[in-house]
Amino acid sequence: MPELPEVETVRRRLEPVLTGRRLDRVEITDARLVRPYEPDAVAAELQGERVASVERRGKYLIVRFETDRVLLIHLRMTGSLRHSVNGLDDDPHRRALIRLDDGSDVAYRDVRRFGTWLLLEPGELDTYLATRLGEEPLDALFTAARLGRLLAQRRAPVKAALLDQRTLAGMGNIYVDEALWRAKIHPLRPAESLERKELARLHRAVRTSLEDGLARQGSTLRDYKLPDGGSGSMQHEFKVYGRDGEPCDRCGTPIAKIRVAGRGTWFCPTCQPEQGYQAASRSSRAPARSSRQSSV
Ligand SMILES: [Zn+2]
Repeated sequence: MPELPEVETVRRRLEPVLTGRRLDRVEITDARLVRPYEPDAVAAELQGERVASVERRGKYLIVRFETDRVLLIHLRMTGSLRHSVNGLDDDPHRRALIRLDDGSDVAYRDVRRFGTWLLLEPGELDTYLATRLGEEPLDALFTAARLGRLLAQRRAPVKAALLDQRTLAGMGNIYVDEALWRAKIHPLRPAESLERKELARLHRAVRTSLEDGLARQGSTLRDYKLPDGGSGSMQHEFKVYGRDGEPCDRCGTPIAKIRVAGRGTWFCPTCQPEQGYQAASRSSRAPARSSRQSSV
């Protein structure tokens, strides 16, 4: 599934071709894309709208029109957008097609058909996203202290807490595993158990992992394609994701795979010890007992 770096890469490619353009003709050929609304009705509403900007929040693409309505696009598993100035080949997985007023086309393709298009009226976007998304991890306002507050009192494994879009918007299975490896934190650690210096490492690791992904234009797995048909290269840089049995870049230990929150999870058993944490937490409780004893 495309995560923040992939969606942001798509946004950066779409922004120059969509901004200022009018949607001259819109065809939506898969009812699932816009349900429960009628595809023809949504297409008719979109026709004639002029694009003011292309934004992103979490894994959502936000096409904002001059009328302040927005088209909220979620690519889910296999959605992708393709822009072409000289026509498009037939595609059995095409779900929608937009002709722009400069004669170019934007096609939406989705093999698994989990992607969604939702047309929102002016003022509806903030309310819609407020209950679904947490902080933007690349935002300047996102700090280690805020990460600590988001994870406090959460007994769930840190991996599960980070996959929850209401914690950090845009993190998914790939970048969570990569960030936990960088931060040397076991994916099953209870989120609330992270200490201040671990939170600082995790905060830095989340940003570094996402920025690395962005610098390589995302990772190309399954059907992820950029609007010009190109692909990202981050998949060649993964430290742990999908690498079970291969040596850890840092220590050479074979990368292990477990399941956390129902998702395949890769980590280095040496760099990200679970035992080490349990021992440390026991020994950190011990001095408290002994200090009470010594005060008696
Ligand atoms: Zn290692």
